[in-house]
Amino acid sequence: MGAEFAATATGWQTWRFGCDVCDRRMWTALDREAKAMAMAKANGWIVGAATLCPACAVVAQHHRVEPERGAQDVAG
Ligand SMILES: [Zn+2]
Repeated sequence: MGAEFAATATGWQTWRFGCDVCDRRMWTALDREAKAMAMAKANGWIVGAATLCPACAVVAQHHRVEPERGAQDVAG
């Protein structure tokens, strides 16, 4: 899902982050992407090529999570 810029009905602009692995999301009250990403990282999120919530980030540190699953078992 990654980072997404959103505006509320009241015109409040915020960045939100959605985990690529699970459905967890985090809303920030920041209108600057750099600040929002810094806040996400400070809260344990991994943001970059992949966006991972703190829980999935812990797993990813031990076992790389690849958004695109192209691996196939080849017998023989
Ligand atoms: Zn997650």
